[in-house]
Amino acid sequence: MEEGITGGPGKGIIFVVSAPSGTGKTTLCREIIKKVKGVNLSISYTVREPREGEEDGKDYYFVSEEEFRRLEQEGAFIEWAVVHGKKYGTPLAPLVSQINRGEDVILNIDPQGARKIREKISDAVFIFVLPPSMEILMKRLKDRGTKKEEIELRMKNAEEEMRNALWYDYIIINDELGNAIEILKSIIVAERSKKERMIHKVKEIISRSLGR
Ligand code: ADP
Ligand code: 5GP
Repeated sequence: MEEGITGGPGKGIIFVVSAPSGTGKTTLCREIIKKVKGVNLSISYTVREPREGEEDGKDYYFVSEEEFRRLEQEGAFIEWAVVHGKKYGTPLAPLVSQINRGEDVILNIDPQGARKIREKISDAVFIFVLPPSMEILMKRLKDRGTKKEEIELRMKNAEEEMRNALWYDYIIINDELGNAIEILKSIIVAERSKKERMIHKVKEIISRSLGR
């Protein structure tokens, strides 16, 4: 377990969400934080260029290669990986403070990053989002305005990424967005009620009712 991020009484849950690029995981995660209280979205660092409409500090922290390397050497990332040829990293400090405040955090990261989180945080929850078909995935990439060369690279990587789906805890097919949101919401709500995460509550209620 990573120092400082031990799951335990009153601590938040880490939800790792992965999907091939264009599946809709960003859309899904942005909707879920509006609908479910107490869940935050982790903001990663990346060296890739911002897309139209993306904001620094909201979608990503957009940094240079040098800045990324400096942060990596300082140990600022709990994990980082090269995805579609560019570096992406999850900052450790905000994750630790949110979890310690009892807030849940969604990490929208690729399967390489997800594996690293699995090694470090044994009680994280892993969710893989699949597109209904490869044709629809291609259409979503195009509609989002992804450049042609990028679409080719992302479609090529999609198959390999999807092979990881079976080691995740949950799979969501993002067909109709409303359905996918409901499924993700159900997963979060159910995970919060797992007995392992409720033991302290059970003890608290029993001792209170016995006046101890
Ligand atoms: P990702 O974060 O997985 O790369 P995005 O959230 O950017 O994907 O979504 C890719 C495109 O697909 C966006 O244009 C988004 O509006 C669209 N999209 C997302 N979910 C759905 C859905 N369920 N049905 C149709 N279009 C969707
Ligand atoms: P995009 O460039 O489309 O925003 O993201 C490309 C890929 O990078 C997606 O699979 C996304 O989940 C992944 N990604 C984003 N942030 C991180 C991160 O901090 N770490 C890792 N490992 N992957 C990330």
